[in-house]
Amino acid sequence: MEYVILNGEFIDRSKAKVDMEDRGYQFGDGVYEVIRVYNGKMFTAEEHLERLLESGKKIELNISYPVKKLKHLLEQMIVKNKLELGIVYMQFTRGTSPRNHAYPGEDVLPAFTAYTRETTRPEENMKKGVKALLVEDIRWLRCDIKSLNLLGNIMAKQKAAQSGCFEAIQHRGETVTEGSSSNIAIVRNGKICTHPATNLILNGITRRKINELCQANEIALEETAFTIEDLKQADEVFLSSTSAEITPITEIEGKPIGAGTPGPLTRKLQDLFETEIERQCGSLQV
Ligand SMILES: *Cc1c(COP(=O)(O)O)cnc(C)c1O
Repeated sequence: MEYVILNGEFIDRSKAKVDMEDRGYQFGDGVYEVIRVYNGKMFTAEEHLERLLESGKKIELNISYPVKKLKHLLEQMIVKNKLELGIVYMQFTRGTSPRNHAYPGEDVLPAFTAYTRETTRPEENMKKGVKALLVEDIRWLRCDIKSLNLLGNIMAKQKAAQSGCFEAIQHRGETVTEGSSSNIAIVRNGKICTHPATNLILNGITRRKINELCQANEIALEETAFTIEDLKQADEVFLSSTSAEITPITEIEGKPIGAGTPGPLTRKLQDLFETEIERQCGSLQV
């Protein structure tokens, strides 16, 4: 049996049902998180759960669970499902009430659902790099919220998929913002550059971890916006996210980046990141 969490309770996945008028289903009215699990342990769980509560606050959705309680529930689910390597997905919606754009009253409780999924690490992509496409960023102006509303993101990703690319790199005019489900960084003359954490991007936990690792290892990193031209002329480009970790981008719009192979600084960051995973979750060697 596979367990899921429905409003704080563990139940059999096949018995978990959500109402037709759940506001997540009707409006995308809710927030979510994805946390990676290595060796049965969550990586950067607190950071993700704190961001979940922050995303909730930004849309006036009151998540009454403290981080500690959420973490404990997710840990229990991981144990119940015997998950070793994979992800935990969770979301809070504004609950179920007769369809009306305005928020329901305080009596309507948010709906909390979560599940686990087994997935391996994207070894091949991390090693060889991936191709990317450029697309105009058509999303709203609160990309800092990890909202269930992902139409702009999925439309961008679909364009990439249709051209055999792994990711769509979004830009507002000449300024590069982020990927459809990842943050983007470039390397120029040994210095990393990534869009600042404003309302125009989702401030990734992986991105923040990379920033910390750069600080600790005296690798130059600048949080400033860069242009499409900077991107195309970069020595190295990489994307980062919970599920993709640090993945080199070796080709954009059919043209190679640098030598067309993963660059030295990207590889170095991958090593540092892996060491950090092992520090928190134990050895990754099988
Ligand atoms: C989740 C997400 C990311 C990556 O964030 P991580 O916390 O590193 O997984 C980047 N961009 C968008 C749009 C996202 O939804």
